Amino acid sequence: MRLLIMGPPGAGKGTQALRLQQLLGAPHISTGDIFRANVASETDLGRAAQGFMDKGEYVPDELTNAMVSERLSQPDVEAGFILDGYPRTAEQVLRLEDFLGRRGLALDAVPCLVVPRDDLLDRLTARAAESGRADDTADVVMHRLDVYDRQTAPLLDLYRERRLLREVPGTGSPDDVTRRLFEALHRTVDPADEATSA
Ligand code: ADP
Repeated sequence: MRLLIMGPPGAGKGTQALRLQQLLGAPHISTGDIFRANVASETDLGRAAQGFMDKGEYVPDELTNAMVSERLSQPDVEAGFILDGYPRTAEQVLRLEDFLGRRGLALDAVPCLVVPRDDLLDRLTARAAESGRADDTADVVMHRLDVYDRQTAPLLDLYRERRLLREVPGTGSPDDVTRRLFEALHRTVDPADEATSA
């Protein structure tokens, strides 16, 4: 299955994507994690990305697209993947489509975690206290939410038009959210089931 999990910072994408990885057996590809690993090991990519990340800005499309193309070219993603944090810009959407299209592939579904803004702020503030992530300070958190609203939220319409979007409430316990996600995906996998359970 080829999935793209979307949602604002703090919605719980990373947590849920890891669970889906275990349940579906498809690798979880988080661009944020890959960038952070590059920053930690001081690669050229990490050095180039760090300034943007620390400010809560998106890393330029060129760097991000190249990194994802390389990751998606590895053999472990042939049977499927769970993309988390990419694409986030209109340009990245086009690049991903081009990449998949050339290989005769397409996304199967785009689950999106929906969480009220106040809850997001609470969660991100709590995470800031324990994560030590340079981009989890209050100012940067606000900025990341703004950047998401401006650049990434509009992309949801596109996936909605393509009937790929599956909006799932991201509130409640992590298990509740996983259950909802799984139900939404189940409907994607087997439309016959949807007909019988409707
Ligand atoms: P968030 O909690 O904001 O969703 P992530 O761990 O997904 O955090 O990403 C952390 C940072 O990594 C982003 O703020 C951005 O600087 C960079 N990043 C991750 N994915 C992308 C992307 N697709 N395009 C550009 N920058 C990205």
